[in-house]
Amino acid sequence: MSVFSQVEFDDHEQVVFCSDKATGLKAIIAVHNTNCGPAVGGCRFWNYTSDEEALVDVLRLSKGMTYKNALAGLNFGGGKAVIIGDPKKLKSEAFFRAFGEKLNNMNGTYYSAEDVNITTGDIMQAHQVTDYVVGLEGKSGNPAPFTALGTYLGIKASVKHKFDKEDLSGLKFSIQGLGSVGMYLCQRLHQDGAELVVTDINQSSIDTAVKEFGATAVGLDEIYAADVDVYVPCALGATVNDDTIRQLKAKIVAGCANNQLAEPRHGQVLKDLGILYAPDYAINAGGIINIFFEQDENGYSSDKATAKVGEIYQTLIDIYQRADKEDKPTHEIADIIAQEIIAKGGKDK
Ligand code: NAD
Repeated sequence: MSVFSQVEFDDHEQVVFCSDKATGLKAIIAVHNTNCGPAVGGCRFWNYTSDEEALVDVLRLSKGMTYKNALAGLNFGGGKAVIIGDPKKLKSEAFFRAFGEKLNNMNGTYYSAEDVNITTGDIMQAHQVTDYVVGLEGKSGNPAPFTALGTYLGIKASVKHKFDKEDLSGLKFSIQGLGSVGMYLCQRLHQDGAELVVTDINQSSIDTAVKEFGATAVGLDEIYAADVDVYVPCALGATVNDDTIRQLKAKIVAGCANNQLAEPRHGQVLKDLGILYAPDYAINAGGIINIFFEQDENGYSSDKATAKVGEIYQTLIDIYQRADKEDKPTHEIADIIAQEIIAKGGKDK
């Protein structure tokens, strides 16, 4: 299996393959870039169909973390870990201690956190043997409310830019995915007088949103064509694709899901249709911003984290204004701004 010739390889600083025979741990840790600080990014546990699939995933995700952390103005670089195998069969305390030892071998170039199929409990087990973990119980805790706050502020910035409107009252939103982030977001939008159209694969979540926020429920595939002002993806990636874009009536796409564009060219298609796209890694950075404050020399402070999450509003306005000026899609401008920050080693430098 080649590494350097992978399409997703982007001059990553380090790619480490590690295993532990006793526990069955097999992991790949990718450090993409540390210009702005030590690499930080979650660990994903997935039953990949091949080692190559895991490699592609970790290369892509670690680069994404470099861009997300830089744009959010955090002194973090970008990295990610993937663990290969069936989480239900492999998870144990010894397994995560073994993972923690692998993190120790990285000597602080990479700090790990939760991601798909990894809980704070798992990270706490790794923490028994390593300090190179973040997002800990009793410290920054659950990132979802902070991700929801950042997404809410990003939506407000998008509404201001597109409709020149300060508040959300009377606007209609379609929320796809009522999970940890989506449900908090519904609460905020409802409090602001917005009308909600929702969907989820989980009926009890739909029932909650209908009861608590007066939402209208629609089928999984009906969410795209809903007659709304803002489409809010909060479930899966790649929901902005050739099939769904032509159904959209919304004039804004702004939600917390990662990797919303199926392909980068879909950002151009949205622009051509006059639909404003809030770049996913810009609007959904609230959770990693909250984690960043675990490392504050005076100890974690949710007030400081909340204030920093507030900067997402202006970050999006800056992206939109520059995109208008340079006549480029917003996702391209987000990448350009992130690259400028990475090149100078931090937003404040
Ligand atoms: P979650 O797993 O708690 O929620 C996802 C929700 O989507 C669930 O309610 C699930 O039932 C629903 N869902 C799954 N498939 C669906 C489908 N086909 N149609 C409609 N709904 C469907 O996840 P989360 O933590 O709320 O994260 C949501 C998204 O935001 C993910 O893409 C995640 O990667 C991204 N994100 C989350 C955070 C965070 O702090 N949790 C931070 C950054 C990005």
